[in-house]
Amino acid sequence: MKRSLKERFVQFAAAALSCALLLALPAGKSQAASVTVDPTIRVGLFYGTSALPGANLLNEVGSGYRLGYYDANRVFQQLAQTSETAISVVKTQNVYYGTSGNWNGYYDTITSDIAVGCYHIQLPGSYGTYEEAAAAAAGYSGGFVAWIDGSWQARVGAYMDSASAQAAQTALGLAEAAVVGTSSYGVSVVKTGTSQILFQFDSTSGLCLGIKPGLDDSVKTETIFRGNTYYGGFQYQRVSGGNLTVSNVISLEDYVQGVVIQEMSPSWPLEALKAQAVCARTYAYRSYAAGKHSSQGFDLCNDVHCQAYKGIATVSAASLQAVNETRGQYLWYNGALAEAVYFSHDGGATESAVNVWGGDVAYLTGKIDPYEASVVNKITNYNWTVTFTAQELTDLLNSKGYVNSGIVDFKVTKTSPTGNAIEITFTDSSGKSWSKIRDDCRTFLGLRSLRYTVSSSSGGTGYSVNGSGVLNTLTGAYAIDGSGNTAALTDGSVYAIGGDGSVSQVTPSASAGGGSTVFTITGSGWGHNVGMSQWGAYAMAQQGYTYQDILSFYYTGIEVRQP
Ligand SMILES: [Zn+2]
Repeated sequence: MKRSLKERFVQFAAAALSCALLLALPAGKSQAASVTVDPTIRVGLFYGTSALPGANLLNEVGSGYRLGYYDANRVFQQLAQTSETAISVVKTQNVYYGTSGNWNGYYDTITSDIAVGCYHIQLPGSYGTYEEAAAAAAGYSGGFVAWIDGSWQARVGAYMDSASAQAAQTALGLAEAAVVGTSSYGVSVVKTGTSQILFQFDSTSGLCLGIKPGLDDSVKTETIFRGNTYYGGFQYQRVSGGNLTVSNVISLEDYVQGVVIQEMSPSWPLEALKAQAVCARTYAYRSYAAGKHSSQGFDLCNDVHCQAYKGIATVSAASLQAVNETRGQYLWYNGALAEAVYFSHDGGATESAVNVWGGDVAYLTGKIDPYEASVVNKITNYNWTVTFTAQELTDLLNSKGYVNSGIVDFKVTKTSPTGNAIEITFTDSSGKSWSKIRDDCRTFLGLRSLRYTVSSSSGGTGYSVNGSGVLNTLTGAYAIDGSGNTAALTDGSVYAIGGDGSVSQVTPSASAGGGSTVFTITGSGWGHNVGMSQWGAYAMAQQGYTYQDILSFYYTGIEVRQP
């Protein structure tokens, strides 16, 4: 059941963000047996081409940081700690702290006066504990502890090249020491704004530096990273030896908090927020269980590919309540986690998954939506109209490889039982036709939904003016006589006198206006229309329905419960 399409529709209406998701996950095998209430998940924040040379952290709630790694069970194993409140993780290549422009405040490879070099002097031997290594490192300016594949080392300095490090080694009289670098997986923790290394971590066996903010377990930490605030910890992985892939290591429940406030405004009715929380939690668990982004070192990305997530800065009392009151609850069908797809608004009826994506999903069945209509006045562009001229369709089809002799007809040729367009057909002047089905009825023309009708008119007529410009109507035009008097013109009011004295009415012509048929698409809704309408959830909540009612309406035959 692999599906490649993922889409999200964002709407700023009633201060709410809405989205549509289509999950691309394998059906869970024996999912039910292993589902847990609140696993630790990893959400990619910077990865792939956005991976960072350096990543700053700033304590917001809680103070200091524990440094170590997350083990195979995602349990944090502490190696060191610091009471600094502003630290940065940098890759172990020569990096610089930016003091101006786009790099101001960040470590990057753009040169500046504050450089963190990747050559160090390593004191002889190794140490049994962090404390022993720290005591040895403390004897030197720029000394720090390095954890290298499980071995404790004391290192000194951060030099830009081997020669500088050797010169410093000689100056310090450390004949027994060695100049060292790290593997391409090494990272250093520095005090932000300086070249002072606090700790270095290098593992060639796949372990990654983890950072757990706060030194007091009784404080629920909030930490600022690149302008957003996060609960939980962080992981830094140099995938293939490159820049830092930064992940937020966080409990599922805390993550759901962040998604709910992205997907709906915290000001929405509580039961709608609760329905959204169950959907977001179920989606996240399926992604986590499926290892959706495991090759990149995390479970879910923070983008619309998975679910939008920007930390927890706008968490409200209502969103906290919504997540807490549904804690651990997932959407189930036949003992397995359901595909909790959702979208902004259905325009009057949802659609069956089989008619949109082609795979029949028993609980994703199209329904007439009697609720959403009550909140239409809150939704921007609930009803929408798009027009295409025949020429525009001709060009569009040609650009997509459907070589045609000029489109002359476009219509909906099949609708679903709930009235959505599920097959559309384009016909050219030679009689050749092309049909698009299912979700293509929406995406092929870039429409907001597949809930629409098409009408055509022989529009595009006009009046040629002095052989150059074209007026589509005479309304707003004036005639002027030899004395400078003007008179307003209207369509049908203008006559021409021929050389033989004959009088004829001036009418618009198709050739002047381009002659192209115009197709008008009149629709409502926004999204793929499968699963839950977020605005429908809003409406149901406002009408007194519970989140279970909402979920049961939009997902036929599902259960809402803990594992
Ligand atoms: Zn993703």
